[in-house]
Amino acid sequence: MSERYVCAECGAVTERTYAVPTLVRTCEECGAWSHFIREALLALADRVPEDERPEDWDELSGDEKMRVAMREGHVSLADLRA
Ligand SMILES: [Zn+2]
Repeated sequence: MSERYVCAECGAVTERTYAVPTLVRTCEECGAWSHFIREALLALADRVPEDERPEDWDELSGDEKMRVAMREGHVSLADLRA
């Protein structure tokens, strides 16, 4: 089974056969040296309640949302390793 990883810069998706929290690589789509976050983990950021989300939440990239979620204690490192 393959895992989908999402570019934190542009949202491009790449697949790998292994599961790790993030990949760091050059994105073919946007050319950035970027973190690719495992797609299953991005959904964890939705744990941040709406009234705790920054105003620009919808404009944040996936890894920025994850940073907020972790900073506010809604996602732990243990969640990322699961
Ligand atoms: Zn990209």
